[in-house]
Amino acid sequence: MHEFSIATAIIEQTCAVAREYDADTVTEVHVVIGAHRQVVPEMLETAFDAAKCGTIAESATLLWRETPLRAQCAQCLAAFEPAEVFWRCPNCGSNRCNILTGDELLIKSVVLEQSKEDGATDDRAPDEDAPMSKPE
Ligand SMILES: [Zn+2]
Repeated sequence: MHEFSIATAIIEQTCAVAREYDADTVTEVHVVIGAHRQVVPEMLETAFDAAKCGTIAESATLLWRETPLRAQCAQCLAAFEPAEVFWRCPNCGSNRCNILTGDELLIKSVVLEQSKEDGATDDRAPDEDAPMSKPE
């Protein structure tokens, strides 16, 4: 199940971004999944929900968009959507084709939330580290 390692990587990157922006929570993670990656979005979502536990992205929702597999013939530059793994250009029959889209798997955007005011000018100590909040 490679969805789990993908989900773990997504969470790691998301947490790195959240730390960079000093965010408290991550609410949404938008990803783009290429059809060529053969990722089952529902399985990725399940893996994401497992991987996010105990991280800053614990309450984040995974939102995805799939991009279709598109290839371009290196010979005649015709673009097409291959149906099989070993494709040929439908225009000239060449098998020298490059993937245009469908091979990507990336984080498009991350929605962060900050509970503390940024740049607030009060006299309180800058780092009042609250202990991990636990239910009463
Ligand atoms: Zn061609």
